[in-house]
Amino acid sequence: MTSSKSTKVRKKDDNTTDSIPDLFDDAIKRLDEAFEYANIHPEALERLKHPKRTIQVSVPVRMDDGTLRVFEGYRVQHDDTRGPGKGGLRYHPQVNLSEVKALAFWMTCKTAVVGLPFGGAKGGVIVNPKELSHLELERLSRGFIKEIADFIGPEVDVPAPDVYTNSMIMGWMMDEYSDIVRRRTPAIITGKPIPLGGSLGRADATGRGAYYCLKELEHKRHWKPQDIRVAVQGFGNAGQHVARLLHADGYKIVAVSDSSGGIYKETGLDVPSVIYAKEQTRQVKAVYCDGAICEMVEAKNITNEELLELDVDVLIPAALENQITTDNVKNVVAPVIVEVANGPTTSDADKALVNKDTLVIPDILANAGGVTVSYFEWVQNKAGYYWGVDEVNHKLQEIMAREFHAIYEVMDEHDIDMRTAAYAHALNRIGQAIESQGTSSYFSNND
Ligand code: GLU
Repeated sequence: MTSSKSTKVRKKDDNTTDSIPDLFDDAIKRLDEAFEYANIHPEALERLKHPKRTIQVSVPVRMDDGTLRVFEGYRVQHDDTRGPGKGGLRYHPQVNLSEVKALAFWMTCKTAVVGLPFGGAKGGVIVNPKELSHLELERLSRGFIKEIADFIGPEVDVPAPDVYTNSMIMGWMMDEYSDIVRRRTPAIITGKPIPLGGSLGRADATGRGAYYCLKELEHKRHWKPQDIRVAVQGFGNAGQHVARLLHADGYKIVAVSDSSGGIYKETGLDVPSVIYAKEQTRQVKAVYCDGAICEMVEAKNITNEELLELDVDVLIPAALENQITTDNVKNVVAPVIVEVANGPTTSDADKALVNKDTLVIPDILANAGGVTVSYFEWVQNKAGYYWGVDEVNHKLQEIMAREFHAIYEVMDEHDIDMRTAAYAHALNRIGQAIESQGTSSYFSNND
C-alpha cells in the first residue's frame, strides 16, 4: 500500500502511482531480466507477455433485503502450454484486471518453478466479502461459477482459493459446476473441504512450503533457530501457518500483523496463543489488550509499515502485493525476505534489495506449496484414491527442497539474485514445452 506519509507519490489516471506501478507491466519486466540466463527462444518469451484468454463477467446477486447487486469478476488464463490453467480466485474490493493478469502470469511461472503439469490462471471478484451474509456469499460464488463454467474444466482451467476465499466457497463452486455439467466433478476446483474431495494437508500447504524453503536455507547457513528473529506481515492462512511451524522449531517470531495492525515482542511471541487470540477476536491487534489474552500474549502494538522495517533476521511478507516499494525499501533491513504473498515487492524496490545483498526467496518459489498440494488434490480426485497427510507433506517437502536447490544452483552459477534465477528456471521449463511444438528456427528450415 502507498504510505500516506509519502508526498512524492503522484496518482495517475489508472489508479497506479510512481512508486506502485501497473502490476502486470511490472510483473512481466522480470521475464526480460531472466531471459539472458534461460535457454528459451525469443518467440516463447513473446507469447508469455500476452495472456491467452481474459474473461470478464457480471454476476447479479439477489441480496438478503431483496435488492439486486451486480458484481464484476474476472478469470485470466495466462498460459496452458504445460497443462490446464491453475490458480486461485480472490474476493477483494481492490481486485482489478491488471492485478488478475499479473497473478495469472505468476501462476504460470510458479507451476513451472515446481514442475507441475499446469499452466497459470487467476480469477477475482470485486467485493468485500466481510460485508456479505453467508447466503449472499454463497449466491455470489455459485453465480460466478455459472458465468465462467464454459471456460473452465478439470482439463482446461482449475480454480482454487486465494485472498478472502476459503474451502467452503470452493465446495459451493464444485457443487454448482457439477450441477451444470450433470456429473460430480471434484477435479474442477482444489482447496475443497476434506469431505467433498479436498486433500489432507492443503489448508497449511502454502505456509508449509515456505517453511520447507527456510529449512533448506537454515541448513545452508548453519542457523540455530533460537537465534533467528522473524517478522510475519499478514496472519491469514499462509502467514499463520509459517509462523506456527517456525515457532515450533524454536524460531523467535518477534512480530506478526494483519490488516488491523500488528504486535511486537522482542523475546518472541507465543504463536499458538496469538492464533488462539486471533480466532477469538478476528484481529491480531486486539491480542495486545484483550483481557485474559492480553496476559497470554504480552506485546507492543506496531503498524504494518513498522513491521516491514524491523531489525529482524527474516522478514516474511504474507499479505498482499506492493508492500515493499521504492518508498520504504531503504528502511527494510532484514537480510532475508521470504515472499509468502504474491508480488509483495515492486520491481524497482527489488533492485534496491539486490543492491544491498538481501536474499529474497521469491514468491514464485516461496508460496508454491499451496498450488503443489492443489496438484496433489487434483491427482487424488482424478484417481479417486486419497493419501494420508504424512504422504502429502513428505511429497511437498521433496518438491520444495528439490526446486530450492535447483534455483540456488542457477543463482550461484550465474552470480544473480534468487528471483532472476527462479524466473530463469521457470522459463527453461516453459520454453522447452513451447519449443517442442516448433519455433521459427524449425519452421523456416525445411530440410
Ligand atoms: N492461490 C494460491 C496461489 O496463489 C493457490 C493456487 C492453487 O492452489 O491453484 O498460489
